[in-house]
Amino acid sequence: MVGRTPRVPHRVISVDAAPTDQPPPDSKEWLDIIRNQVDGNEAPFLNGLNRWLKVSWSDPSSDLLGVTRFEMDPNELMRRRRMQAPSGPVCIELHPILVDDPALLAHTFVHELLHAVGLTDHDNRHASLTEMIAPAPSLADSPVLMRLRSEVLDGQEIQGWTCTNCGTSWKRTTVSRPKRCPRCARSTVIPHEASSDDDIEKGS
Ligand SMILES: [Zn+2]
Ligand SMILES: [Zn+2]
Repeated sequence: MVGRTPRVPHRVISVDAAPTDQPPPDSKEWLDIIRNQVDGNEAPFLNGLNRWLKVSWSDPSSDLLGVTRFEMDPNELMRRRRMQAPSGPVCIELHPILVDDPALLAHTFVHELLHAVGLTDHDNRHASLTEMIAPAPSLADSPVLMRLRSEVLDGQEIQGWTCTNCGTSWKRTTVSRPKRCPRCARSTVIPHEASSDDDIEKGS
């Protein structure tokens, strides 16, 4: 398992979330923390980001916990990265289901903010920074993760399973959730969705 925190599913499947009146979280304090942890090469878009970044709640029907959208197309972004120039307009949308789950909200927000500052790959560096700055809550501490898990278990969208103990992922071959991990034999198996970098969108 590279890049993603195994216990945080990437997609929100058929949750029944309400829109929220609360303001979206403020990026400033998180960006200050991120600034102390990254260097300019890996975070070329950090300087001046406050001016370009817009944070909002996504539509409750969105199936992503968070998404980062750059207005510029991939080639232009690449050029700006080389020149250490600002990325131009970028927006982060967070799912309103997160409003009552502060730890998962912070984790998701930092995940997306790291994309926005220029860490656009789901590599180990991105994952370890996210875990260091805003660790994913355990299942027991996260109402959203608990809810997603039970809803996902009823769904057909599950493509595989992940062990939260050893990180092993494997393809789904059974309808019901395996009781034990085939590698470490612990009963710490949760649904896993094969996913790519689809929470990052670049203009085209
Ligand atoms: Zn295991
Ligand atoms: Zn991501």
